[in-house]
Amino acid sequence: MKALSIRNLKKVYADGLVALKGIDLDVEEGDFFALLGPNGAGKSTTIGIISSLVNSSSGDVRIFDVDLKRNKQLAKSYIGLVPQEVNFNQFETARNIVMNQAGYYGMPRKQALQQTERCLKLMHLWDQRDTVSRRLSGGMKRRVMIARAMVHQPKLLILDEPTAGVDIEIRRSMWETMKQVNEQGTTIILTTHYLEEAESLCRNIAIINQGAIVEDTDMQSLLARLNEEHFICDVKSPLHKIAAIPGYKIELLNAMQISVSVPKSLGLNQLFQGLSEQQIEVVSLKNGSNRLEQLFLDLINADKKVS
Ligand code: ADP
Ligand code: MG
Repeated sequence: MKALSIRNLKKVYADGLVALKGIDLDVEEGDFFALLGPNGAGKSTTIGIISSLVNSSSGDVRIFDVDLKRNKQLAKSYIGLVPQEVNFNQFETARNIVMNQAGYYGMPRKQALQQTERCLKLMHLWDQRDTVSRRLSGGMKRRVMIARAMVHQPKLLILDEPTAGVDIEIRRSMWETMKQVNEQGTTIILTTHYLEEAESLCRNIAIINQGAIVEDTDMQSLLARLNEEHFICDVKSPLHKIAAIPGYKIELLNAMQISVSVPKSLGLNQLFQGLSEQQIEVVSLKNGSNRLEQLFLDLINADKKVS
């Protein structure tokens, strides 16, 4: 079963800004999925549409096979949203914040009390249940947000940059909390502009940039690709085909040029040996970079600016 399926989703804001250019996205039930992208990429817009806070311009969204346009209430009931900013009344206690949310979902009082207790315990907040939330630490406030989002037992928990701007200790404790929630069966989608965060938590990942999905893969393959170097080699005599050399990804660009991806652990010696066995002589070698690497450099630089 798919937790989320998005087809050709577009968003043009009233001022004419095209925030989503027609994106496709699938998230399997049980997954821990990252939507990674720099600021302004379209992450919050995507999440806003999924959770019915923002209207799409066109396209389809299905949540656990329920069409968001046709059956919004049911689709919404499957989702718990943790927005980026702390947005509860800081003069309320943690318990009341979560109870009020249960009330919003029309839960009978007895069930609301039970669910509130369950969520506050899960978030290690039960001891703090009667503390006015303004007195809670930053990390605890974020956990109150998650407890609130989980009170109606959503099948899909969506967190929008849950750790942006929080210090490293709180970040790590939140990672543990999110892992635990996922291990108990809740599908999680998380937006982030920290690659490290996606890497530590997520099984699958999509990268969004300027309103378009530029990569949609599993975390392991992505990391393997980031660990490759790319070269363009000019060869001495024209080539029509080239045999595989174990460990390298080789592509014939044209008769006089090949491109090679080299895992950083492997080096170039075996490549040249493999080529010479095929009587291929390389006359020059230059570093080629790819779009993904460039994107990550941009992400990393953006990170340095904010933190
Ligand atoms: P992200 O969450 O990845 O940082 P957003 O989805 O918030 O990106 O924004 C995507 C683009 O849409 C940005 O260029 C942003 O300025 C623009 N945008 C977001 N919200 C609005 C809005 N309410 N009105 C107009 N433009 C918006
Ligand atoms: Mg955002």
